[in-house]
Amino acid sequence: MKFQTRCVRTGVDKDSSYNSVITPIYPTSTFYWDDLESNRGYDYTRSGNPTRAALEENIASLEGGEACRATSTGMSAITAVMHLFQPGDHIIAGHDIYGGTYRLFHDVYSSWGLKFSFVDMGDAARLGEALTPQTKAIWIETPSNPLLRVVDIAEIAEIAREAGAITVADNTFMSPYLQRPMEHGVDIVMHSTTKYLNGHSDVVGGCIVTRAPEHSERIGYIVNALGVACSPFDAWLVLRGLKTLGPRMEAHQRGAMALAETLAAHPSVEHVYYPGLPSHPQHELARRQQDGFGAMLSFDVAGGRAEAERVLYGVKLFYLAESLGGVESLVSYPETMSHASMTLEARRNAGITEKTIRISVGIEDPEDLVADLREALDRCRT
Ligand SMILES: *Cc1c(COP(=O)(O)O)cnc(C)c1O
Repeated sequence: MKFQTRCVRTGVDKDSSYNSVITPIYPTSTFYWDDLESNRGYDYTRSGNPTRAALEENIASLEGGEACRATSTGMSAITAVMHLFQPGDHIIAGHDIYGGTYRLFHDVYSSWGLKFSFVDMGDAARLGEALTPQTKAIWIETPSNPLLRVVDIAEIAEIAREAGAITVADNTFMSPYLQRPMEHGVDIVMHSTTKYLNGHSDVVGGCIVTRAPEHSERIGYIVNALGVACSPFDAWLVLRGLKTLGPRMEAHQRGAMALAETLAAHPSVEHVYYPGLPSHPQHELARRQQDGFGAMLSFDVAGGRAEAERVLYGVKLFYLAESLGGVESLVSYPETMSHASMTLEARRNAGITEKTIRISVGIEDPEDLVADLREALDRCRT
């Protein structure tokens, strides 16, 4: 079956009692046994639940993996992956990874004896230099947040394989509709399902997709042992959201391209960061490894904080909010919001300034979004 058919038709037909078209929610903590030796496949919801299993089946299929575990948040998915490693193990990650991931690696797991290097993943030579005999994993996030840098997944997976390390990709910004890292050799894919997979800003959740049986088994064990699986209600909502993933992503991207072009042509804008623009430095790479350019974009206003504020307070159709991937458009200011936990120096090194504004483009009519943003930008100049 093709991708969008699998979105709709995987993880369904679970109700042989009444033939409900929609997978039921099983809000039960425990399941009774038929006798001392047998149950119906489930015994306790932390370990397994039919609604969650239906979601896992769906996501594993979309990412091209063997198995999936759905977790309570994106961060708990990352936490579970970190438990594959031992003190002394070394992990390489991009210098511009999601702030919460950086905090977990740098502040929490470093003090547990895991070693991390944060490098510019766009530079294969620098990546090669960071490898040590203890390197067990390379953590890939592409495009990056908030400046939409794209890195070559296949190249990094190859470097890792030669070094005897695995690759893990955080595919949250793209969704499997637009990018399937396993097709480029990645071993483990994780998501914050809070974003595009659920898509409606009403759940926090995560997932881990594996392809090697030993990873599937170990991640399953860890998710149960840590107790980080998602609730049946949340699993049900994400499964519902996934049914419309393809049409949503298409609508998101239409708006993003229209906004990117508007921004690129506007005199109040100094720079636009969007892989869909031919001027983006990794436009060709994005075209090669992605099936579309996504719906996250950032830009620098001409001027400084005052001009940025005029845009942020001037727009009416964009909520001033963190997060991304929902049907409603959001605008955010990395300097004081998503990236405030970085030091000023780290922000400047990453290219984030007080001119930088990030947009998560929703699925509203692009004409309305363009008109609203243009009006706010025009006001910058008066
Ligand atoms: C949001 C996000 C996370 C964290 O997910 P939560 O669901 O908020 O815990 C991790 N990585 C990326 C790229 C994200 O956007």
